Amino acid sequence: MTRPQNVIVTGSTSGIGLGMAHSFARAGARVVLNGRRLNDAAEAVLSEFRERYGHDNVIFAACDVADPGQVEEMVSGTVETFGSVDVLVQNAGIQHTSSVHEFPLEKWDQIIAVDLSSVFYGIRAALPRMLAQDFGRIINVASVHGLIASKEKAAYVAAKHGVVGLTKVTALETATVNITCNAICPGWVLTPLVEKQIHARAAANGTSFDEEKRKLVAEKQPSQEFATPEQMGALAVFLASEAAAQITGQALPVDGGWTAQ
Ligand code: NAD
Repeated sequence: MTRPQNVIVTGSTSGIGLGMAHSFARAGARVVLNGRRLNDAAEAVLSEFRERYGHDNVIFAACDVADPGQVEEMVSGTVETFGSVDVLVQNAGIQHTSSVHEFPLEKWDQIIAVDLSSVFYGIRAALPRMLAQDFGRIINVASVHGLIASKEKAAYVAAKHGVVGLTKVTALETATVNITCNAICPGWVLTPLVEKQIHARAAANGTSFDEEKRKLVAEKQPSQEFATPEQMGALAVFLASEAAAQITGQALPVDGGWTAQ
């Protein structure tokens, strides 16, 4: 990095986003952490980051990514504090499982808003600034479910396929300037989002959390291992680097072979 990159990571108080925020901060970036509110858990993450990486190198933006006005404020606030947004990592996401004909309407709307529309709002807010400075890296956290489907994830699969499509359009529209847009497509990563699904399976099948955890990975992920937030972070830092300047419009699986089947 010639100067510190200014990086927003949405949904970065837990799971994959937290791992990615650590990876960027360790690489010398200034980081904007994000969650819907600055609650106790978010305060704790912010303090830890400031202690580790320097008080002036980390800020927290309270922003519901499903609200375009709040996303615009997060981006303009970052420019005010750090001077630019160089890397936008759009990671915030939610899940709900149900068969398609029983899928609650409000859950459908919520997942499309948080997992898909938010990605458009972020690009809409950040891209004009990236075009003006002739540099930008947009990294959208999609999923293997942006490439293939699983049962009982109608809204999530629809949203993540949408994220991959939006990533390609953005990449084509920025292909001749120094901006790239890619999607990372994780397989199973053991985070709160997945732990919730494992607990639900254990309750439904009358089995233990550990038993369902083992079965969950065995069903889909040939490596038989969870991928980690640190591995997602390392890929994101690479995608933000000069070495990755010619990688754009791609959906990159990190899935232990899931989508090779
Ligand atoms: P997680 O629940 O730990 O993290 C999601 C984060 O997003 C949380 O910190 C949450 O507070 C935040 N968030 C939710 N709604 C928000 C909103 N409206 N505004 C701002 N922040 C919001 O889950 P995770 O597994 O780390 O998920 C991160 C991303 O990775 C998601 O987009 C998810 O779809 C994707 N993903 C996860 C897996 C996996 O196996 N864990 C696999 C593929 C893709």
